Amino acid sequence: MNKLLSLCVAFMLALVTADVLSVPAHTCNGQPLVWSSDTLNFKVPSRHYPQDSIQYHNLNLALSHFNRNPSNFRISTSYEARTRKNTGMNGNGVNEILFSSLDGDAIGRELKIFSCSEGLIESDVILATAPDWTTSSSALRYLEYGGDHENAVGVLLHEFGHAAGVGHTVDSMSNMGSAHYFYRNGSTIYEGVGEDLSVSLRSLYGNGESSKQDLAVSHYRYVGNDGEYALVGFTRILEGGTEPFSVISGGMPVYHLVRGEAYDLEFTYENMGQNSAFVSVEFYLSSNNYISPGDRLIARFEGLHIGPNIVFTKKYNITLPMNAHGRMHLGVIVNREMAEINGSKESTLANNRTFHQILVVDE
Ligand SMILES: [Zn+2]
Repeated sequence: MNKLLSLCVAFMLALVTADVLSVPAHTCNGQPLVWSSDTLNFKVPSRHYPQDSIQYHNLNLALSHFNRNPSNFRISTSYEARTRKNTGMNGNGVNEILFSSLDGDAIGRELKIFSCSEGLIESDVILATAPDWTTSSSALRYLEYGGDHENAVGVLLHEFGHAAGVGHTVDSMSNMGSAHYFYRNGSTIYEGVGEDLSVSLRSLYGNGESSKQDLAVSHYRYVGNDGEYALVGFTRILEGGTEPFSVISGGMPVYHLVRGEAYDLEFTYENMGQNSAFVSVEFYLSSNNYISPGDRLIARFEGLHIGPNIVFTKKYNITLPMNAHGRMHLGVIVNREMAEINGSKESTLANNRTFHQILVVDE
């Protein structure tokens, strides 16, 4: 039956992504290989994911975030007391999520069995035991913000994407390119499936029954690729095309800006839903990094178009108010008024706000 074995590894320091948007992991005669059902059930050994453990919490968070995707495809789990040997997990006819040691720098892995005649047959997902995982949603605990913890939810979302039959994304900020980015407001992080996985799942399994919509704005951007993975970095503040002086605090830049001067504020906008959106973008000045409509509104732009298969980094020119002073934050909110997109509200607003850090200085 010509069964093939495939393997994917998310590396500890990688810098990840794939070819183009919507790349299937495996094809036969040009056709992507998919599951025959829209629901993929994994068996989870309770011994590896004990209730209330870090790994149990992260797995359930990843599942709930994954299942917000706008396609018909859903992942479910059932816990079982029985445990199987890791060495025999692949090819035993059971989809499994394990927590185990992995070779080298790998922190997550997905192994798959498939054939041209049957499509996808079996998937096994492993989260490595070695990294310092955490259940915290506090940004400063994570490597990306100078902490020492890995992002289990992001890695699981990436491996779930592979399990669905989606390959890497090399050309954009994307979870299938790199799990090393977040949506962040205040100290809280949020991980999402990303635009690339959303559109890939819709192309493989069709649109979900209800019109699922979700926009996001991020202070990360695509900066290049490393093999089949993507590289991400922080978005920037620019003045005449040049970054003003900055120092690092909390793992990210604090730009030194002068009041009354105009700057280009760079953020990345993303559509993880089913339909084109035309929404507002608002910029705020805030004394803290939690951006809310109660902060001081300094600019509003109407009609930003974000297509349902698009992620892009865009600059808006903003003048720093004359009464800005000291350590502050320049925030952005996309679709603040929660306008409906094709008749539906967004599935979450946890990823609609983020910020730059600034220090207002004399010229
Ligand atoms: Zn991968």
